[in-house]
Amino acid sequence: MAKIQKLNEHLTNMIAAGEVVERPMGVVKELVENSIDAHADRIGIRIIEGGTQLIEVSDNGSGMDSQDAVFAFNRHSTSKISLEQDLWHIHSLGFRGEALPSIASVSKTVCLTNDGTDSTQVTIAFGQLQEAKKSPANQGTTIRVQDLFQRTPARLKHLRSVQYESSLILDVVQKFALGYPDIAFTLYVDQKPVFQSSGNGDMIELMYLIYGNEIARKAILITGEDYDFKLSGVMVLPQFTRSTRYSITTFINHRMIRYPKLQNAIKEGYKRHIPSDRYPIVVLNIDLDEQLVDVNVHPSKWEVRLSKEKQLIELIVASLEKTLADQMRANTLPEKTLEKTIYYQQESLETLVQEPQSSPFISKAAARKEEREEPAFSYRPQPMQTSEPEPALIQEPAVAEAPVQPNSELSSIRVLAQMHGKYILGESPQGLYIFDQHASMERIRYEYYQHLLLDKPSDRQTLLIPLVFDGHAQIVQQIDAFNELLERFDVQVEALSTDQVILREVPLWMKDTDLKETFEEIMERFQSDQHQSLESFRRLVIATLACHSSIRFNQHLSQAEMEKLVHDLSLCEQPYNCPHGRPTFMLLAEKDLEKTFLR
Ligand code: ADP
Ligand code: MG
Repeated sequence: MAKIQKLNEHLTNMIAAGEVVERPMGVVKELVENSIDAHADRIGIRIIEGGTQLIEVSDNGSGMDSQDAVFAFNRHSTSKISLEQDLWHIHSLGFRGEALPSIASVSKTVCLTNDGTDSTQVTIAFGQLQEAKKSPANQGTTIRVQDLFQRTPARLKHLRSVQYESSLILDVVQKFALGYPDIAFTLYVDQKPVFQSSGNGDMIELMYLIYGNEIARKAILITGEDYDFKLSGVMVLPQFTRSTRYSITTFINHRMIRYPKLQNAIKEGYKRHIPSDRYPIVVLNIDLDEQLVDVNVHPSKWEVRLSKEKQLIELIVASLEKTLADQMRANTLPEKTLEKTIYYQQESLETLVQEPQSSPFISKAAARKEEREEPAFSYRPQPMQTSEPEPALIQEPAVAEAPVQPNSELSSIRVLAQMHGKYILGESPQGLYIFDQHASMERIRYEYYQHLLLDKPSDRQTLLIPLVFDGHAQIVQQIDAFNELLERFDVQVEALSTDQVILREVPLWMKDTDLKETFEEIMERFQSDQHQSLESFRRLVIATLACHSSIRFNQHLSQAEMEKLVHDLSLCEQPYNCPHGRPTFMLLAEKDLEKTFLR
């Protein structure tokens, strides 16, 4: 007897729901996309319990008449395409006609809609139409989704904590706001407002709301186009980076997409300015002819297929590189802090180089998201010590051999004085420059070691007194793995006892560093994270070497030493940040001084 039968519509919807709306964030995404397609310019989202109790999306868009309001919940029902060729000219975010029936099959869904003539309320519970009636409503549509996945326990189990699901929703709403700066979005999480955009089209204002003041101040608009593509969006100068690629948001024709190759292209555009394991903060929209993109790849519509991908990648890399080259200037003092410095002289300049403050709109969920983004290991320099003998200011040229064009901004600076044994002051027609002497030196040494490392092999030096490191049983146990990582630096350690290792010989180029401190730190890092990649270990070792061979705070420098330091910094490929990402110098611009002194 034949066993195959056609699935009923409810089951098909539930199966589709598995793909269309994997989790509450997916429901929010589909509903907001529908509101955008309905030309709304105000969209409000409310969620309770990470969206499992309630997701409500309200808009002031076109609304539906009473017939469509019911019809919208039928499978494969859409107003957005009707002919085969429409599939190649998709102007809307939706087109599959799957979202509403899928969502309504796994929740209790109420749709309240008004198209300017009809005003209708439709209720569907777990795929069953409960009622459709006239009901007063404002122009637009509100979709209320309750008890999501209550009858699909497998799906419910798959969800993470309420905070996590809420943070994903906040993230997707913020991305919509970045993709549609002309739409005003509000998000309430458990009755509390956590995000609100004005819809005034200002991308920099959106960056402020989402990433905070400091980052917004470093955000610049992206431009770039060729015959097929037009780029827009914002890029943050490389003073601020993140440890994951989530900081890169990409849109194709304002459709939020996941496309690793484009993220790589964006990272590539920053290559000269940020370490290889960091990611820039970028929002990029690419406008192109709909025929060049196939959006019908996956039900959740996160993925697309692009024609002329290579050409687009080249355009992105070139546009970002050029914008960065034009824009890279000294870190100017934030305006607010400038006032403080001037009127409250006792405030330490160190407070000027803090990490960004988050904006008042950023909720706890967002803060948690930041925590998730912590780098796998974050390298911190040793506390500044004053009692130890300091290594002398290094005499070698900052960059070996190849003639390097000095950075034109830095080479025009005249060194004035040292301040508090920490900062070097200099002037140029642009204004007053303040160098952090330790960070600047770290940058110089970092690039110096990087070059030396490339020029291997070098001579070796046997240490007069071999260095013995105690209390490293873990290293002794894994001595081969540790030495394997060290191999590319031409160094090896030996086990001396069950918990002692000994270092007898180093390459000549390492001799100027404080070997004891450097190796203690490298071993400690190895022990705390043994799974780091060769590349991140390489960066760590170079940064550690650079740190322990650099001049410190509280070290007096002669005029000649200061001039050499500024000169060496001007020869660096990336003079703006130390290897840990802190600024090396900042500019108190002449024009800001004039403003402050009311000239
Ligand atoms: P799709 O968006 O792929 O067309 P959906 O299931 O998401 O499929 O929506 C079905 C239809 O319901 C849409 O084509 C649209 O006509 C209508 N619709 C859904 N949401 C809204 C809304 N917020 N405002 C107006 N019409 C809507
Ligand atoms: Mg849709």
